[in-house]
Order: sequence, then structure tokens, then C-alpha cells
Amino acid sequence: VIRVDDVTEREKMIKELQEAKHQAEQSDKLKSAFLANMSHEIRTPLNAIVGFSELMAYAGEEEKADYIQIINSNNELLLKLINDILDLSKLEAGSVELKYEPFDLSEHFENMFTSMKQRLKNPDIVLTEINPYHCCQVTLDRNRVAQIITNYVTNAIKYTSKGSIKMGYACKDGGVYFYVKDTGSGIPEDKVNHIFERFVRVEQNKKGTGLGLAICEMIIRKLGGKIGVESEYGKGSTFWFT
Ligand code: ADP
Repeated sequence: VIRVDDVTEREKMIKELQEAKHQAEQSDKLKSAFLANMSHEIRTPLNAIVGFSELMAYAGEEEKADYIQIINSNNELLLKLINDILDLSKLEAGSVELKYEPFDLSEHFENMFTSMKQRLKNPDIVLTEINPYHCCQVTLDRNRVAQIITNYVTNAIKYTSKGSIKMGYACKDGGVYFYVKDTGSGIPEDKVNHIFERFVRVEQNKKGTGLGLAICEMIIRKLGGKIGVESEYGKGSTFWFT
């Protein structure tokens, strides 16, 4: 008796299972790395807060003022860090609902520009907008769009000492292309491909969590768009998304 079995299906299933197992392991590794990183990032400001609070007991008036400043700035950092981590976890767990609604992007963009202008305190930077349409009806999650633009412009302000920042958008390939272009510090070539990953930072002496861009990337992935940056170290960057 000759038996012929078609094992194609079985082979396919085995392959799929192996793939799933590999992905689960990979995601487990990523999670552990994330947790290790996170504990380090949280401990740094927390240690500063605890340490300087203790020192306060023995400090003179002058030192006290310095210590309070250190404590306050680390409080802020810790709060931002926790908020970012919660935001990221919620996005990752899929518990964030995107709210698509029709609105006029031209008007929305104008409002974002006004609020960004108020945030800019450096007189050596000129912030301009390129809002090319009189009216631009779109269906998007407006809060998420605002969140990413705010993140981009806040970064541009933070990493630019002088020159210009341009925030703009344009209709392209049936979608919307948003961008923020600055004449800031730029990103070195070896970092630029990793800049949207968690905790990747170029300058350690500027305050930040290294999570803002990771959150942007996650939102865009959920929205089904694209995200990227073109940057020249020492010259400036253009962060964009669609
Ligand atoms: P954070 O600003 O809190 O460190 P982000 O995730 O927003 O975290 O940014 C990650 C890193 O990318 C920053 O630390 C900075 O090195 C770099 N970066 C972001 N935006 C710019 C920019 N406009 N110009 C130069 N570098 C930038």
C-alpha cells in the first residue's frame, strides 16, 4: 500500500507557529529592555528628588534656593516621563480610540500655529506657517494631529538656538503631508534611523524623556500613515508625517 499525504498545509502551519513563537519571544525581549530602560530613566530624576530633599534639612538659605530648583526641574521631568509612559502603554495596549471627524484643517492649523507662537520664547528664532489653502476639509483625528505637530514644534524650539522654524502641510497623493522644518542642531547620521525609537536621544544635556517621537511614531502607525525625518547634523531637520 502506498500512502500519499499532502503535508503542505501542515508545513505551512508549522511555519506559522514558529513565526508566532519567534515574534512572541522578540516582543518579550523588547518588553524587558523597555522595562530596564524605564526603571533607569525613572530612577534618575527620582534619586535627585529624594537626595536633594534630604540635603535641604542641612542647607543654608542660598543652597536651599538651588536645591529647590533642582527638585522642581526633576519633578517636572518625572511627571512628563510618567505621562509619556502611560500614553505609550495605552497606545500599545490598543486602548486608545482614534476619533475620526471631518473638520477644516486650514482653521485647525491656524490655531495650532497661534498656540505654538505663544510657546516660543527665543527671540532669535522666527516661527512661520505654510498654510496653503483657504479651506481644507479633511477627516482625521484632530487631537492626535495636534499632538504630533506640538511635539515636533516643541522639539524644534528645544533643539534650535537661532534661525527659523517652519510648520506646514500640503495635500499630497490623496492624503495630507505635514512637516516641521528647523535650522537647529540636526541629528548625526548614525542616530537618524533610530530617532523614533524609545529613549533614543542625541543631546543628554537638554531636558527630555526620549519618548515623544516614539509616541508620534505609534500614533502614525495606528493612523496608517508614514513618518520620517530628513536631517543634516549641524544644519537642521525636517520632521514629517502623512
Ligand atoms: P526628548 O526631546 O524628550 O529627548 P523625543 O523623542 O522628542 O525626546 O526626541 C528624541 C531625540 O531626538 C531628542 O533627544 C533629540 O536628540 C532628537 N531631536 C528631536 N527633534 C529634534 C530636532 N528638531 N532637531 C534636532 N534633534 C531633534
